[in-house]
Formats: sequence, structure tokens, C-alpha cells
Amino acid sequence: MSIYHDEIEIEDMEYDEETETYYYPCPCGDRFQISKEELASGEDVARCPSCSLIIKVIYDLEDFQEQGEEVVAPAKRELEII
Ligand SMILES: [Zn+2]
Repeated sequence: MSIYHDEIEIEDMEYDEETETYYYPCPCGDRFQISKEELASGEDVARCPSCSLIIKVIYDLEDFQEQGEEVVAPAKRELEII
């Protein structure tokens, strides 16, 4: 039993660099969409804005998480009181 209309591999989706979003054609004529940010956070459901269908995106979470630059906390500066 699946609530998904389909399961699509990320490689089969179309990536738009400007919006950093992956797209896949929906049978209704619109497109399913999921952003790179959502994928990186573990979200794997692409939604169509025009209908209620959803698809499950098959991808490797690590591929997206490792892309991010390491978040380096800014070094604490010693405050000099003049
Ligand atoms: Zn649709």
C-alpha cells in the first residue's frame, strides 16, 4: 500500500539551478517539485502545486548533506575594552 503516485529516482528528475529545485512531470500537466534544501533535510516527498498527487523521491541523503559547507562557528574574539 502506498500513498505515493509514483517513486522516482533523483537522477530522473530535472534540476533547475536557478531555483535549486528538482522537477518531475505530473500527469495533471504541472510538475512535482522538491527543493535541494528539502532533500538535504531528509524530505523525500515531491508535491505537485496543482493537484493532490505526491511522489516519493529516491535519493541518497548523504549526497546532499555532504554538499553543504561545514558550518564553522566564528572564532570568539576577545573583546578589548579600551
Ligand atoms: Zn499534478
